[in-house]
Amino acid sequence: MENKITSGNIGVIGGGVAGIEAAFQLDKMGYSVTLIEKEKELGGHVKDWFQLFPNRRPGDEVLSQLKEKLQQSGVDVKTATHITNARQNGNGIDLSDQQKNNYNFDAIVLASGFDLFDARLKEEYGYGIYRNVITSPELEKMFKSGQMVAPSEKPLKRVGFVHCVGSRDEKCNNHHCSRVCCITAVKQAIETRTLSPETEVICFYMDMRMFGQNYEELYRESQESWGVRYIRGRISEAAENADKSIQIKAEDTLTGIPLKLNVDLLVLLIGMLPSEDTSQLGKKLMLNTEKNGFIMGKDPHCHSNLTNKEGVFLAGTSCGPMNITDTINHARAAALEVDQYLKQN
Ligand code: SF4
Repeated sequence: MENKITSGNIGVIGGGVAGIEAAFQLDKMGYSVTLIEKEKELGGHVKDWFQLFPNRRPGDEVLSQLKEKLQQSGVDVKTATHITNARQNGNGIDLSDQQKNNYNFDAIVLASGFDLFDARLKEEYGYGIYRNVITSPELEKMFKSGQMVAPSEKPLKRVGFVHCVGSRDEKCNNHHCSRVCCITAVKQAIETRTLSPETEVICFYMDMRMFGQNYEELYRESQESWGVRYIRGRISEAAENADKSIQIKAEDTLTGIPLKLNVDLLVLLIGMLPSEDTSQLGKKLMLNTEKNGFIMGKDPHCHSNLTNKEGVFLAGTSCGPMNITDTINHARAAALEVDQYLKQN
């Protein structure tokens, strides 16, 4: 952007939804902004998503909108650039990347996001062992391809979804709720029925957490219009049958009845964890973290974008699981906090 009126050099780390929005807003305020993304392409996890809940809007549409406004801004975008070192230096922050390039910023925004839980750690579900056990992001790829075919190419008579994989789980030491996987299951159950109307869909849940606008409505729609079944209970075991279908054992905790049934595809709703970069940068900058490893906001109610270190700000899921709407709002709030900070210094 020409005619910068505000002085300050800001680094935004992470080129997903939060990073793009924060960088765009700061550029609009007149700052010099560098957006640093370790992948070759911007977009973070959203670029792998087919449709978004609750209105099944294509993920690409939202991403194109964000990228377009970024292109029209003056933000200096550096992709394939991985920040490997970070430290506070007086009032500024020094960063260096994998090529040993050094950067000095007056403030940085950590928008380094989340990683997904490694489903292999829940051995009882057989992910990585049985071909027809997949994760929710892998199902998104199927939706993107427009075909519902099990990895073993078996016809899909029945698909099962398992909620809370790697979330709310003492055995994995992940006590937090990942917030978006219940509604993801509802959305994916409807998409499965859309692409494959003959397929029966059953979700195994602990609690249905429908916190967002229109989530509860979509949950009802999935039952009333799409015939999705919901069974409260955790699956205790999954095993492969000779025909490659998956036999699952569970208990319906509402009726107390033990269940044993076969599904042709088992989809694991994997939870959100702090990304490796979020954890590493947090350590290097000595940021306070929550018990679950996400970076702790200075004040959870009034200043969740601030950290315990001056000049280091948070945007989006670097501080905990959130949906896209909340991520974009959080990124805008981060831009305002950076602006106030730089004007005071
Ligand atoms: Fe479990 Fe639902 Fe929370 Fe995800 S959002 S962790 S599936 S309760």
